[in-house]
Amino acid sequence: MTLHVVQYSGGIGSWATARCVADRHGRDQLVLLFADTRAEDPDLYRFLADSTCQLGVPLTTVADGRTPFGVFADQRFLGNARIAPCTLHLKQIPCRRWLQQHTDPAHAIIYVGIDWNEKHRCAGIERGWAPWPVRFPLCEPPRLTKQQMLDQARALGLEVPVLYRHFDHNNCAGMCVRAGQRHWATLLEVYPDRYARAERLQTGLTPAGRKRQR
Ligand code: SF4
Repeated sequence: MTLHVVQYSGGIGSWATARCVADRHGRDQLVLLFADTRAEDPDLYRFLADSTCQLGVPLTTVADGRTPFGVFADQRFLGNARIAPCTLHLKQIPCRRWLQQHTDPAHAIIYVGIDWNEKHRCAGIERGWAPWPVRFPLCEPPRLTKQQMLDQARALGLEVPVLYRHFDHNNCAGMCVRAGQRHWATLLEVYPDRYARAERLQTGLTPAGRKRQR
């Protein structure tokens, strides 16, 4: 019996992936694996609850316990668009630990919700999860756009995550260190409190900044 493990992040891509896997393989051997960064938008947790209830599959949560800035403080390294150790410590390591404890790579498949626009990332992701095999259902026809996935969720009666009103992604409450300048400018405009928090946390990681904050 093969276990089908979807990386369930609270993003619309992972939701569309889960629906696709459920349609193809049923729900009995379906796992929705969520790595909690402890820094998510409150509405992400609401969407997780609503969508997993509708799918009829309980959420499986793993967590390191730290936030991204907690990882940066411990690593003495500020995550950025090129290197983001938060992903490794808060998502990959806890998920891999769960996989090691609960699955056999010969009888488990991981599903990742990246779509055909990001197909160039597939090989690296496959290497990263080896020896578990990885599938990317959204890279296959009908190659839905993000808007189509959001529309499908709405059509099924789900309220889509609020961050999609302003951003392309629903992660870390809009404060992703990998995001670009335009994203951060939007964050400043729509969530100035979050922008200020990120600025304060970032400043607090440098000796000069810590001195200034005293
Ligand atoms: S979404 Fe961004 S800030 Fe959050 S864990 Fe991933 S890379 Fe880090």
